[in-house]
Amino acid sequence: MPEPKQKLSRSRSRKRKGVQASKTPPLVECPKCKSKALAHHVCPVCGTYKGRQILEVKTKITKRVKKKKREKKKVERDETEKMRESKNGK
Ligand SMILES: [Zn+2]
Repeated sequence: MPEPKQKLSRSRSRKRKGVQASKTPPLVECPKCKSKALAHHVCPVCGTYKGRQILEVKTKITKRVKKKKREKKKVERDETEKMRESKNGK
């Protein structure tokens, strides 16, 4: 079984638990995109940490964009159905 290399001090684990328990997490301003991000964590908006690119950030698909896509598909489907009907009619 793998075991931790060093004992985690009581203070250290309690500090972490304290942050996890607090309702208002310690947010700091991201130096790159100026959005609020957790301290000592990769920024979820631009994916950088300490000035380095850590994560590739995918563009968020908003509900509005999803709805537009769905409507577009629906229109295409309706058009193909109309084409089929007209072909069958002749
Ligand atoms: Zn950022």
